[in-house]
Amino acid sequence: LQGAFREHGVILRRLSVAQREVRLPGQLCGLDGLIIPGGESTTIGKLAREYGLLKPIRVFARKHKAVWGTCAGAILLSSETGSRQPLLGLMDIEVKRNAFGRQLDSFETPIEVGALGELSGANGGGPRPFHGIFIRAPLIASVGIDVEVLARLPTGEGVAARQDGMAATVVHPELTDDDRFHRLFLGMNAQQRGAVTGGACD
Ligand code: GLN
Repeated sequence: LQGAFREHGVILRRLSVAQREVRLPGQLCGLDGLIIPGGESTTIGKLAREYGLLKPIRVFARKHKAVWGTCAGAILLSSETGSRQPLLGLMDIEVKRNAFGRQLDSFETPIEVGALGELSGANGGGPRPFHGIFIRAPLIASVGIDVEVLARLPTGEGVAARQDGMAATVVHPELTDDDRFHRLFLGMNAQQRGAVTGGACD
């Protein structure tokens, strides 16, 4: 709808994954997974509401499809942001928007992500930190009991989390040339596929 979706497309293409952009509910039909990109969560949420996408995405996720939100997408997946905006509420996470301040306070720093450990880096090699790109990023302030926090800042706040078939990252893996988060998500897709309870089009 809005934001850094092309960059996700480039990585998925490189991984030979069939893909399409989703702007209307019917375009969810036949998909195994959905990536909600970074951008501006209020805008994405309002557009999603206008295009009648909020409920179909909730239904899509409940049918055991995989859904991954990056940055603003993670905010969309959350249940609470402290501000009034349309949310999907699919993950039991509370996020703090713009946790580091304004656009100028954006920064990049390595993050340790244990779940990426088994996947070799883009250029081979063993486990290594992931290059975290924080652009007016939120933080995961608190999580429910069913949520697995995949990475934290040294201060303890969450930067990546997973719950059932859903994942939220406050950083932008699509802006790096490291495809490990994308491959982790594709693994979640495959796992969810085994549990699919109905098509996305019913
Ligand atoms: N600050 C944005 C928001 O609150 C998110 C920024 C991003 O997606 N890079 O929606």
